Amino acid sequence: MQFIIIKAIFILLINITVIICSFSVNSVEIIKVYPNKSLKTNSVQLQSFKIVNLVSDIKYDYVHNMARYAESKMASINSRTLAIVYPVGKKISDLRPYDLMVSGGTHEVVLTQSEINELLLRTSVFIEETFCDNKITLPFDRAIQKGTGNIIINNLDGTTITTIAVDSSNVTFKDNIVVIDYGNTKLIDYMEKNLSDNIDRIAKVVEGKKAAYVNGVSIFESALTVNLLIPSGVIRDENNNAFNDVMGQKTLKHYNNIRKNIVRELKLWFEAGGGGANAITYSKYCDNVNNPMVLVLVSVNIDHPVGKIDKLDLQYSFFHEAYHSFQEDNTMCEVSGENYNWLIEGAADYFAYSIFSWAQGWSEYSASIMLGDVLADAKLNGIELENAGVKYHSGRQGMGVLRLMVERGWLRESRILDGSIFRNCASVKEFRNSDPKIQFAKNNWHHIEEKNGVFQFKESVLVSSISDEE
Ligand SMILES: [Zn+2]
Repeated sequence: MQFIIIKAIFILLINITVIICSFSVNSVEIIKVYPNKSLKTNSVQLQSFKIVNLVSDIKYDYVHNMARYAESKMASINSRTLAIVYPVGKKISDLRPYDLMVSGGTHEVVLTQSEINELLLRTSVFIEETFCDNKITLPFDRAIQKGTGNIIINNLDGTTITTIAVDSSNVTFKDNIVVIDYGNTKLIDYMEKNLSDNIDRIAKVVEGKKAAYVNGVSIFESALTVNLLIPSGVIRDENNNAFNDVMGQKTLKHYNNIRKNIVRELKLWFEAGGGGANAITYSKYCDNVNNPMVLVLVSVNIDHPVGKIDKLDLQYSFFHEAYHSFQEDNTMCEVSGENYNWLIEGAADYFAYSIFSWAQGWSEYSASIMLGDVLADAKLNGIELENAGVKYHSGRQGMGVLRLMVERGWLRESRILDGSIFRNCASVKEFRNSDPKIQFAKNNWHHIEEKNGVFQFKESVLVSSISDEE
């Protein structure tokens, strides 16, 4: 019996089109939040989530409960998230949009144009609320103060776009740092007039697909590179000494275009019949790393072969993406992540698996369910971690690495489940390749076997001393 359940889950999660098999375990109708109380969950305010649910067969409360439950697991929450749950029809393509609205439609469109418009409106309103800094921050090697004159911002051809008086309110000093606020200056008007949005880039085809990144730059980006000139005497040190002219290039973002780009991509996505699940950290484009704003998209196939909504798949997708919304952006840590892909995706999968196992009443088999899918994925996609760009596999692979670390006693499971390994740069600082334990887990996560229907790590990787391994 255990074995059948485990197999069924694997099929469900790896290839959604195959679920015609009779799935004997009833999905839990209500995610088990407050099991002994009636479901007046609307009275429980969500902390970070806003929800838009356009799937008529799923109650709003159901999505609300999932969000509430995800929030309740977190040690701390910094983010704001708009979760959009929307219907799609029959699957028409096997392309899996692992990196955004990359490949065109995957399902038949069932959203009406007015529903799409509503989703776009809600998205616009949500991302308008993000505070984006139009600021240039320049550190000096000693404490500074304002002198007299103007800071000049030039185009790369040398023509002046705007000048900002050093004694205006746009320029502030603190210790050795000057902050130049270019909001409400001619620079914004200039960008508005001269920066095209990214229609060209979005239309670019890379390897037969539309690309979410072109030359390493996200299609959402919109920015202008300028020459910044601070003539001698405009800024002085504490002893009133002038510096030499300060010159340098700066690439400044144009947030209006970034917003428009995101909304337009969503429009294309909904209109094309894009399905799947995704988390887009909008604030990343806004350098607002301390207050993540995240869009979570989860599609629900309402043309399901067995004629009802697949709650297990919804739970998996929702909790995986919800976890992403709680992960802090670790690109700003003083060291860069050496194990970013599999760690980010693996922890999200770990969270999703442990919650849906619980919600379905399979907590007891949670580890076995995880490891069964990890093994199957290793067989399907190989054991090489961090395949460039293949984030899709990284979830199962990373879950395997994390699970091995948990079972070896090297990582407290609660730190994965409450999101704390993604706080204060912990994931970046702790998961270093120089650590033999990390190396061991990365080399051995796929040594999994099945015994009497239960998937588990082979004893050799649970007991061997790490110095025995390469
Ligand atoms: Zn993910």
